[in-house]
Amino acid sequence: MHRVLIGGGGVGGLVTAHALRRLLPATDEIVVFDASPVHTFWPSLLWVMTGTRRAEQAMRPFSTLRERGITVVTAPITRIDPGSHTITAGERQWTGDVLVLALGAQLDPALVPGLAAEAGNFYTVPGAEAVRNSLRTLTGGRVVVLISRVPFKCPAAPYEAAMLIEGYLRKRRGLEATVEVWAAEPAPMGVAGPTVSQAVVDALTERHIAYHPNQRVTAVDADAHRLTFQSGDTVSYDLLAYVPPHRVPPVVAEAGLAPADGWVAVDRATLETRFPNVFAIGDVTGISLAIGKPLPKAGVFAHRQGEVVAQIVAQRIAGRPAPDRFDGVGECFIEMGGGIAGFARGNFYAEPAPAVRAYRPGRHWHAGKVAFERHWWGQWW
Ligand SMILES: Cc1cc2nc3c(=O)[nH]c(=O)nc-3n(C[C@H](O)[C@H](O)[C@H](O)COP(=O)(O)OP(=O)(O)OC[C@H]3O[C@@H](n4cnc5c(N)ncnc54)[C@H](O)[C@@H]3O)c2cc1C
Repeated sequence: MHRVLIGGGGVGGLVTAHALRRLLPATDEIVVFDASPVHTFWPSLLWVMTGTRRAEQAMRPFSTLRERGITVVTAPITRIDPGSHTITAGERQWTGDVLVLALGAQLDPALVPGLAAEAGNFYTVPGAEAVRNSLRTLTGGRVVVLISRVPFKCPAAPYEAAMLIEGYLRKRRGLEATVEVWAAEPAPMGVAGPTVSQAVVDALTERHIAYHPNQRVTAVDADAHRLTFQSGDTVSYDLLAYVPPHRVPPVVAEAGLAPADGWVAVDRATLETRFPNVFAIGDVTGISLAIGKPLPKAGVFAHRQGEVVAQIVAQRIAGRPAPDRFDGVGECFIEMGGGIAGFARGNFYAEPAPAVRAYRPGRHWHAGKVAFERHWWGQWW
């Protein structure tokens, strides 16, 4: 009997667990650890924010995994020993043959003075609900979508948020409100290349959303509703919707798997760390591309990496060679409001630079994103 321990039941962990359950004999044990009792489908939070989904529609309980032969431990992981493949959670130690770490990125608003006092962190369920409530009662003024630091997960999400908010406010006729994006990055979705970046800037411009790149926020005054940036600029807002700073979960850094201010280094094809049979996938990893920038943090990559790692693990356990490799291919829908979305797809491992194509926006891409959400829930719940 073999045992595979999977840290985190988010996108990467969930895909890995289900793929392994298909591939391994029933006598082999698969254990998923998550601090939360529910799995959240993060892309739906943008729709929670604009009221087209309720929060409970974006979440499902992990308990149903048990019916599929997967052991679920609902407790925070407090210690990882990658040398002995041991995880400590809920005061119990678990040792496995293989570790797969899919613990994501930790959100840490406290890294920007004053930011935590603001409710509109739409990267969390309560934050998305807070933005929704504020949008309903907004009487006008300036809505600021803030990207506080890089890297952040889903490079498209804050731009989608700005366009969805603009679309929502446009429907409230007579309301005088503007939407702006202030971003600690030089361009939207920059790793995907200048064509994709420009397409997003054009989409913002068409919707009269002012874009302020290269603006790193240094302080937030929640009482005065004012942001201060490293450039010396300040801006006041009536509603703030923000992406908080991200960092590696401390338990991962304490295990010696990543520096406290960095991410887990892995073989970019096999996702194995420097510890044999310890894999890391998804947002917790830092994978350098030929252009000197990291692979974006996105569910589509966590998903594909989970499938690849499950194949590699199953082959190794069976004593066979494992030819599977993660190839850096990914795609993303870009919500634009009014039932329209764009789409981009490409190979991020291409050299000398990622080869990503942006497709003309349309209603069919929005329908595609809705269909993917339905598929995500339908396959396991
Ligand atoms: C608003 C929003 C919209 C997005 N839209 C898209 C999109 O359209 N397309 C796309 O590709 N990506 C999108 N993303 C990004 C995507 O959700 C992430 O990249 C993806 O979830 C990463 O998967 P992961 O498995 O690495 O981490 P996660 O899905 O974040 O999972 C990590 C899990 O680990 C658990 N965990 C963390 N620490 C511990 C601990 N110490 N002990 C136990 N459990 C722990 C967490 O509870 C969590 O369940 C979006 C993200 C947001 C916030």
